[in-house]
Amino acid sequence: TMYGFLWNRKQDRISRKIAIKSIAKGGLGIPKLRDYINALKLIWVRKLKTSDHKWKNIIKVTYPKVTLLEQLGSSLPIEELHLNKFWNDVFQAYKQFGRKIKVESSDELAAEPIFCNDKIQVGNRSICYKNWIDNKVFCIKNILKENGAFMTFNQFKEKYEINTDCITYIGCVQAIKSYILKTGLTIDNNMSNHMIKTLKVIYSGQKGARLYYEVLIQDANKPKCCEKWETKLNTDINWNTSFKKIQKIREIKLKWFQIRLVQRILATNVVLAHMGVEKDVTCSFCGKERDAIEHIFWRCEHVKRFWEQLQTVVNNACANGLFVNLNESIILFGHDCSFKSDDTFDLIILLAKFFIYKCKVKKNIPQFNLFRNYLKTAFEAYKYIATINMSYDKFTKEWQFYQTLMES
Ligand SMILES: [Zn+2]
Repeated sequence: TMYGFLWNRKQDRISRKIAIKSIAKGGLGIPKLRDYINALKLIWVRKLKTSDHKWKNIIKVTYPKVTLLEQLGSSLPIEELHLNKFWNDVFQAYKQFGRKIKVESSDELAAEPIFCNDKIQVGNRSICYKNWIDNKVFCIKNILKENGAFMTFNQFKEKYEINTDCITYIGCVQAIKSYILKTGLTIDNNMSNHMIKTLKVIYSGQKGARLYYEVLIQDANKPKCCEKWETKLNTDINWNTSFKKIQKIREIKLKWFQIRLVQRILATNVVLAHMGVEKDVTCSFCGKERDAIEHIFWRCEHVKRFWEQLQTVVNNACANGLFVNLNESIILFGHDCSFKSDDTFDLIILLAKFFIYKCKVKKNIPQFNLFRNYLKTAFEAYKYIATINMSYDKFTKEWQFYQTLMES
């Protein structure tokens, strides 16, 4: 299979869900056909709103429940609708799509449909009370008071003439409350958007299905590695920037190296020991600490000394106008909110990390002077490529501040 080829037929080291996302979002950029087909089908949900063709009236007569699209959630009881194959597939796609949409404000939340909504469940099932809908109660806002609290059963009865019992009402409110809790949002008024977010997103697509595809392939959760990093380093990291920096890396060897580092699948002694290749899980440089990625590249005393030397040379001898104060985030992910770098500096840091990793494999302590030679060799190679690509002037400009780094 395609995956087997990519992973050299060993077990997937990055989950497939992540692999299908674009590199900018932390994946490896393999398209997924089913999501693509579903995205195309969603165009027809958009057409139900925007098209004036005769078929729209036909579908309204044939499937009256479809006209409730703007009052119900996206998990319509498709089987009960007895749709033809085509529309059946369209609404299956709509259901998938609705699951991926997350509300992000209290206005969006209050506009959420109560019925046929996967996220609001009583007894593990979504609900649909026809008599409520007939009385125009279908979104969360409809049962809120001005201060954002839910109406009591009596207030509800007073406002709407709906024949329902207290238990049903309270069960429904509880289900909504536990959904609200999961969103992490709070409601303190009864203002809401005019439309369900899922439909708003669908109608906002002007042309084609690209927007829908992007939503369908996005994972509700960040890649697993991101959470692990955040716990390990006890800080928030801007993952968009991290992955954008990876996209900019031109050399495939370095790009793959940085992907493995960020995805935490770079072979450390801990990983190698787990695979039975290495017995020792301690750092190859200091022999004291556990050989974790953050240790090899930043926390180890020998590596710290290496970075200090690099930093001193850059700050004293490179007239790049940057004041470099290296930290763990700059080293590992290539950026930090407090630091504005340039592409050449990013590349130098990346080459330095790659150099450190090579030292680790050979079990040599990284020496800054040896790195200077390594950088010079890389520089000469880039210069050669720039010459044959007729971009020598650009190249000289990019490297003008960093020549001193290579003079040991
Ligand atoms: Zn160490």
